[in-house]
Amino acid sequence: MSEDWSLRTRSVHEGTRRSHYGEMSEAIFLTQGFVYPDAETAERRFISSGPDEFVYARYGNPTVRMFEDRMASIEGAEAAFATASGMAAVHAALFCQLAAGDHVVASRALFGSCLYIVETLLPRFGVEVDLVDGTDLAAWEAALRPDTKLVFLESISNPTLEIIDIAAVARLAHAVGAQVVVDNVFATPVFQRSIELGADVVIYSATKHVDGQGRCLGGIVLGRRDFVRGPFETFVKHTGGAMSPFNAWVMLKGLETLDLRCRAQAATADDIARAVEGHPALERTVYPGLASHPQAELSARQMETGGTMLALELKGGKAGAFRFIDALKIVLISNNLGDSRSIVTHPATTTHQRLSADQRAALGIGDGLIRLSVGLEDSRDLRADILGALESALK
Ligand SMILES: *Cc1c(COP(=O)(O)O)cnc(C)c1O
Repeated sequence: MSEDWSLRTRSVHEGTRRSHYGEMSEAIFLTQGFVYPDAETAERRFISSGPDEFVYARYGNPTVRMFEDRMASIEGAEAAFATASGMAAVHAALFCQLAAGDHVVASRALFGSCLYIVETLLPRFGVEVDLVDGTDLAAWEAALRPDTKLVFLESISNPTLEIIDIAAVARLAHAVGAQVVVDNVFATPVFQRSIELGADVVIYSATKHVDGQGRCLGGIVLGRRDFVRGPFETFVKHTGGAMSPFNAWVMLKGLETLDLRCRAQAATADDIARAVEGHPALERTVYPGLASHPQAELSARQMETGGTMLALELKGGKAGAFRFIDALKIVLISNNLGDSRSIVTHPATTTHQRLSADQRAALGIGDGLIRLSVGLEDSRDLRADILGALESALK
């Protein structure tokens, strides 16, 4: 494959392995194991296997490897390992390199389950964790220590769409020798090049934009070969979080249209943000592509577009938000994101219900806040649906 191919070309072709049949579409190798031609080969493969040699599907599989190689090429990473879900990826990426006594600094505005891992699980195993306001570089600097092992952050953050200066945080973290792990789900590999910005490890929930059609769970971890094929692979091999070959095949189909979908969804998100900003039913409109976004300058520097997600704060708290949600006709009420169908979520009563009111307030998750994942529907239809629901919310 060619070094100078663009992301869209890589998303269609990279990683493909054709069998002797020359199939056009990637084959699903729905097999748990592999047969060795002789005992010597089996012995050798257990010592070390080449890129096209497999032992057991928990360790690797040809269809899964195609997905891993295609994602690595898209991200500009040396290697990738696919997992059963995004959370299997986050869990393994952190636990494979931490031990009791280590220190971690993480941004506070994290996906709910990521917050559970850093705030509840890691301390249970003796890892000390400091949570900071990710947008405040002075807070990162104050929290980092000579013994900090790892930094974990999410930008764009969920659900308030804050942007963290990845290059600046990476410089601070690397100065104390800490690894930088970035959950890049909201920004997508199309719009944010986290490895180029300084991340050591990048994580995706492939359930979101990569599949993009709401079918399968999946996750992936990308980074340097010595990390991915070293401690990460060893951890997943023995703890069982591997991706199924069928799901890898669905993800490969998703990748073929990833660039097209993300660009269309971001263009519509931008269009809607501009159409609704200042509406009398709204307290605020949060979209990283708007000049009014608190980190508009950083967002423009770090990402190619404002992304596919919007956050709207309705007037009238929960009642106002519920009136808006229930009046939508096209946009579906659910909690996935990055899907071809537009989706609305009320974080305070669903994804972030577990948090106390104080914790939600600290994260900027008010009762009137809704999160909108913009899909592939016609932009004019969506705009009309959302403006209509805003009118209903006023009543
Ligand atoms: C969805 C999501 C995850 C978890 O992924 P699953 O595939 O649901 O396990 C992690 N981080 C972010 C930012 C997400 O949106």
